[in-house]
Amino acid sequence: MVASIKPKRDELGLSEGLMLIDGTWSAAQDEQTWEHRHPATAELVAGFPIAGPADVDRAVRAARRAFDQGPWPRARATERIRVLRRVADLVREHGDELLALQALDNSVPLTFGSVYATSPAFLADVFDHHAGWVDKLAGQTLPPYQGGDHMVMTLREPVGVVGAVIPWNAPLMLAVQKLAPALAAGCTVVVKPSEYATFAVLRLIRLIEEAGLPAGVLNVVTGPGEPTGDALINHPLVDKLSFTGSRAVGRRIMTAAASTFKRVTLELGGKSPAVVFPDADVGTAAAITMGTVTMGLSGQVCLAPTRALVHRDVADEFLAMAEMIGSMVSYGNPFDPAVTSSPLINTRQLDRVLGLIETGQAEGARLVCGGTRSDGELAEGNFVTPAVFTDVSNDMTIAREEIFGPVLSVIPFTDEDEAVRIANDTEYGLAATVWTSDLKRAMRMTRAIRAGTVGINGYQLEPHAAFGGFQQSGLGREGGQPAIEAYTELKTVLFPLTDEMM
Ligand code: NDP
Repeated sequence: MVASIKPKRDELGLSEGLMLIDGTWSAAQDEQTWEHRHPATAELVAGFPIAGPADVDRAVRAARRAFDQGPWPRARATERIRVLRRVADLVREHGDELLALQALDNSVPLTFGSVYATSPAFLADVFDHHAGWVDKLAGQTLPPYQGGDHMVMTLREPVGVVGAVIPWNAPLMLAVQKLAPALAAGCTVVVKPSEYATFAVLRLIRLIEEAGLPAGVLNVVTGPGEPTGDALINHPLVDKLSFTGSRAVGRRIMTAAASTFKRVTLELGGKSPAVVFPDADVGTAAAITMGTVTMGLSGQVCLAPTRALVHRDVADEFLAMAEMIGSMVSYGNPFDPAVTSSPLINTRQLDRVLGLIETGQAEGARLVCGGTRSDGELAEGNFVTPAVFTDVSNDMTIAREEIFGPVLSVIPFTDEDEAVRIANDTEYGLAATVWTSDLKRAMRMTRAIRAGTVGINGYQLEPHAAFGGFQQSGLGREGGQPAIEAYTELKTVLFPLTDEMM
């Protein structure tokens, strides 16, 4: 059996969860709770309140009041900057605690949580980055169309009350990508973390509160998609919805938004290609591609390069390295420094991934390694051994569906045109990687591939760069200037100065 997570839970002194509404931490009105079981051990970790429509309504009304009457949207830029920079400092100071809570949520190992985009340093940098935007959210001054002295200008104002729905795979990072720009823009927020990853987000909210936010600016409601999430996305007093998760819920959000024309930002995952040419460092391409699909989050990553389009001449070399990386993945207790990857989040996700692996074989793809539920001491957890499929054609289910598990599909190609055609033959369009040492080819491929982010010989998220999808990978962008602008409305000001125009 995997070592119990209980000692760590006790060491962290966790009380059961509470929700923050209008500056007060409280239980749900009807005292309903649900129990969170750890995905590596199936142990009971804690119970959390289930916010019903009445609790969500209180939270949204608090955020509405704080927006319509409170100081935050009208605060001096220096005040908002001070609070956001303090949040960044607190996140750095409490980084280890945040990662430990995340490991109790979704079993992401500490070894991975402390690396780059999931690290506390990165989360803090996102707050610092958006703090830097607060006094630079400028409109324009336009030349007067009618001549004369009159002035035409635009202002950026906060969009209003934001409903933020966070998934379970990288709860801290995905919460920060929404909260930092929303708060920097002067919005007020109601957050709903996933029922499978609540601890870490609740602690993050406490840190943000501690940094000096006025009551009601940031509220959190806990509970499942239904009733909690559903009540939030359909609330008429919410002005904008910001969501990361599945296409199915993304559609519900667009439908809910339609009733009152809420603004939306959606990040809906992908089926990203990694295109490997023979002139690339094929070993590195295979190691990073397979590593991204299996290490850390076990493929539960929106931008994971799960379709490896590999030139026929180097397919064997690529496969051998991918298989080797798969054999190096180690599972278990997320607090064990030797553990490099996580279980799947719940048994629903486990059944779905194993089902898709079966479908791949039934449709004629060849399973080179892995793809089974781990047994022995891992049997209690939702672990699936890292899988590599070859002889995959792009019309197979495993090449089209976002599997969200440790499964790589290797699809051969013969020339650049075929590689582009396969890369773009998808309903998604979140990210892509091109592996080549030919700069001209890299630029041709970058232009030809329809995806929100293209990496040449690898990629990393950047706190100041836009991230989001083409096609069904979503709407809008997180990160950088486009992210903060998405939490604003543009107001045009007409200012006639000449008497005859008044
Ligand atoms: P969901 O889209 O259901 O979950 C994401 C968030 O939406 C969670 O907070 C969830 O709450 C919430 N939610 C669920 N239903 C509703 C609703 N009716 N109204 C409002 N909020 C709702 O993802 P799943 O957990 O079902 O995962 C399924 C698939 O989605 C994965 O296999 C993967 O393909 C994709 N996915 C993509 C992610 C990404 O990073 N782009 C992240 C997560 C999933 P709760 O969890 O409490 O039910």
